[in-house]
Amino acid sequence: TNTPVTVLGLGAMGTALAGALVGAGHRTTVWNRSPGRAGALVAGGAVAAGTAAEAIRPGGPVVVCLLDHASVHEVLDPLAGELSGRAVVNLTTHSPAQSRELGAWAAAHGIAYLDGGIMAVPAMIGGPGAALLYSGSAPVFEEHRALLELWGDATYFGDDAGMASLYDLALLAGMYVMFAGFLHGAAMVAPAGVRATDFAALAAPWLSAMTGGFQGYAEIVDGGDYTVPGQQSLEFSDLGDILAAGAEQGVADDAVAMVQRLIRRQIDAGHGKEGFARIFESIRNSA
Ligand code: NDP
Repeated sequence: TNTPVTVLGLGAMGTALAGALVGAGHRTTVWNRSPGRAGALVAGGAVAAGTAAEAIRPGGPVVVCLLDHASVHEVLDPLAGELSGRAVVNLTTHSPAQSRELGAWAAAHGIAYLDGGIMAVPAMIGGPGAALLYSGSAPVFEEHRALLELWGDATYFGDDAGMASLYDLALLAGMYVMFAGFLHGAAMVAPAGVRATDFAALAAPWLSAMTGGFQGYAEIVDGGDYTVPGQQSLEFSDLGDILAAGAEQGVADDAVAMVQRLIRRQIDAGHGKEGFARIFESIRNSA
């Protein structure tokens, strides 16, 4: 914890990341484009720098958590020379291609680059359930592993800087479709006078229990044989009943109709007797 650390960006997430470092006793120097966001961190022992160039001076890894890819370049480009030989850990959400672009930019300037995806909201940082995904420089991950673990479980996915972003966005895809499904269900029961909070109390344990099905689907996908016996067929579970009930309740059908389209594509291709895992084939090739 004697390692000096710099945190560039004190939005909701940067503040949480810096707070965990300060809490663990790291000499933490922070910077934010707009002044006035470092108050609580400084009270806890952090040093607030007036410029990003000043903030990186103490040495040690430079943690970046800004809005987007463009803002990371805006802040780091002028510092490229001074960052040579240093470690940059970028936790800003961006695409895999943008992660690789920044990795190549860093390599060209002699900067060791670790890209990260944060699977947590700020309040979860440093607590149970927070997971952070990393890819890029293995030496940076190994050398600073104890520091990275202060924020949450740290997993490394290899030296392709884009992998952490890819996993991050793939996990978010699953999350958003699940949330849309929950809200679709809440909209179905709303006209019957059911409050969304009451529906949530039923839906949360149900959906949590259903995640137990992921492994079974995954084994079928990996095995490549969708005819494995014992599955409910796509023809049987084509979601017609769910859409009919939704129509009776007057709700927009988009969320469920989307799943039905993926099912129909497989039925139309002659796979109606196979199980739900088969829709993986509707998704994986956009053609
Ligand atoms: P905020 O909107 O709270 O903060 C954005 C930060 O970026 C601010 O510090 C802002 O500075 C800074 N910024 C924006 N544009 C520039 C720029 N051009 N130059 C310099 N600084 C700039 O966002 P969060 O802290 O919530 O998120 C930060 C990153 O973390 C994002 O990439 C987000 O996707 C990711 N993340 C966030 C999660 C969350 O739940 N919040 C979860 C997982 C990832 P200023 O104060 O001057 O505007």
